[in-house]
This record gives sequence, C-alpha cells and structure tokens, in this order.
Amino acid sequence: MEKIGILTSGGDCSGMNAAIRAVVRCAIYHGLSVSGIKRGFEGLIQNQLVEMDLSSVGGIINHGGTILETARCLEFKTEAGIKKAVDTLKKHRIEGLVVIGGDGSFRGAHELSAKWSVPTIGVPATIDNDIAGTDYAIGFDTAVNTALQAVDKIRDTASSLRRLFVVEVMGRQAGFIALETGLAGGAEEVLIPEKDTDLEKMCKKIVKGYQRGKRSSIIIVAEGNESGGAFRIAQQIGDRTGFEVRVSVLGHQQRGGSPTALDRVLASRLGAAAVEQLVKGNTDKMVGIISNRVEVSNLDYAWRFQKQTNLSLLRLIEILSI
Ligand code: ADP
Repeated sequence: MEKIGILTSGGDCSGMNAAIRAVVRCAIYHGLSVSGIKRGFEGLIQNQLVEMDLSSVGGIINHGGTILETARCLEFKTEAGIKKAVDTLKKHRIEGLVVIGGDGSFRGAHELSAKWSVPTIGVPATIDNDIAGTDYAIGFDTAVNTALQAVDKIRDTASSLRRLFVVEVMGRQAGFIALETGLAGGAEEVLIPEKDTDLEKMCKKIVKGYQRGKRSSIIIVAEGNESGGAFRIAQQIGDRTGFEVRVSVLGHQQRGGSPTALDRVLASRLGAAAVEQLVKGNTDKMVGIISNRVEVSNLDYAWRFQKQTNLSLLRLIEILSI
C-alpha cells in the first residue's frame, strides 16, 4: 500500500480535525501518501481531492468543524454513484480509505468495502454518541461540555429569579448528551427517548422541591424525547404546576467549538489506529475505544447493534436532585 484517502462525512463535530491530523501524520510516518477528499462521498464522486502533507494539517488540532468539509450525498446511495466514487479512487491509485463520521457514513464505507473491495476503516465521530463498538465517539465530550456551560449560565438566571427552565439538548434518538449534561449540571430531571417519563410524578417532585426551598429547577430534554420537544414539555409543566416556565433550545452550538482535551486525545488515538488497521491489511472495520483501550469491530456492528444508554445515570440524577 502506497496511498490512502481520507474523508469526513455526515454531521460535523469537534475533533474531526484532530482525527484528520492524526490520520495524515500517522500515514506519512508509515511511508504512505494521503489524498484528502473534500465534502465526504460527494467529493469522491465529483473527484474533489487535495494532496495532504505534514503541514496541511498544522494548527488544526484545536479547531472545530472539518477542514475537508462534509456533506450528505444521496447519489452515493445509488449503484451509479458508488461506481463513480470507486473510479475516482482507482484513478488516483488510492488503495485504502479512512471514513470519519457516524453510522450513516459507515453504511457507505461498508458498501465500498464489501461490494467494491476497497479497504475501508471507519472512525466514529458524532456528538450523538449513538455508535455501538465504542464507549465514546469523537465530538461527544465537547458537545456535553458546551451544553453544560449553557446549563450553568441558565442556572444563574434560574436561581436569581426562582425560575424553572426546560433546556433542550441535541442527540437525535439517543439520550447520551442529555444524561451526562444533566448529571454534571445538577439537573432536577432529564427526559430521554430511551425511557418514558411520568410527567405527573415529575411535576409533584418539582413543586416539593420549591416547597423545601429550592431556588431553581432545570429540566433537560433530549431532542428525540417521546413526550415532545422542550416547548411542549414546558407547556405541560406550566399547566400542571402553575409555574412560569422558560425554554432554552441549545441547538447547533453543541456541534462546534474548540474540542476538549478528551476529544483531541480520542481523535488522535483513533485516527492513528485507523491507519494502522489499513497498514495491517484490515478492511470493513471500525476503530473504537472501550474501557480506555483501542478496540476494532466490524463496521456493520455500528448500526446492527443499538448502543445501550446507561440508565443507572437517570436513577442517580433522581437521587441527587431530591
Ligand atoms: P452520519 O454519518 O453522521 O450518520 P448520514 O446518516 O447523513 O450521516 O450519512 C452520511 C452519508 O453516508 C450519506 O449522505 C450517504 O452519502 C452515505 N450513506 C448513508 N447511508 C448509506 C447507505 N445505506 N449506502 C451508501 N451510502 C450511505
């Protein structure tokens, strides 16, 4: 193997640049040259490539987003689209590919590997953290810390005015961001898609809290929560308790910003591990981190198995917020 390609695909997140840097520098260390593919699978179809050298990834470890840019590409899901992508790889003599993204991107990577025999390794990067085969995906820790900063600030206002806030965090159909932000932010309640919430019981607890002298309450709602979005929950709480409820939807700020140390370390380890897997001749694999060790799993594990949310954290939040 002499040359590999690298792309970022799907939703962006902090730490993608640190992963790109690790892949490029580790590949060069192993004597490989590296092509950067712009805008994910779309750039592969449209032949948008840039050569990456040591300095092309200088000064990016601390930046959010992705210097290679990313895209969602419907054409890649078609036979004709994927064939164009394979032609680009052949034209540039690219013998292996590192795909940095979420489970959608891994489905594309799996197609390339299983059906078109392109050696492909996935690096999990999504703020949602909903990828099986890794304890943490790149970008998750930064998203939690961003949400936590916002919750801390909202807490200042909430306790000054004795207010109740409903704060909506991202996470698609998973409650990972909500749970960790809730536990770290001392939230009174956390509503996640993985477990139904008894709103009546929750409201009684909130009222009891104020009766014993609480000056603020913060309810964290995951965006994919079954009981509805933050505004609907706020309305229901207001109707049941008579309290004035404020809503804050944190949104896309959770995706960007300078990555935390944890995300930079994770991205550096996983980026380097992906290159090592290609050098060893492996394909159709994902590198992940389990109990602080780099582990390798089959790419399809990422979407065939549902990553379990640690529901004991909900119980802990319940105990610590009475
Ligand atoms: P993420 O990787 O963040 O989960 P998406 O689900 O949007 O993001 O997937 C990113 C891209 O991966 C899609 O735009 C598409 O190009 C490719 N992709 C997703 N699913 C498939 C599939 N089943 N077959 C081929 N390519 C896919």
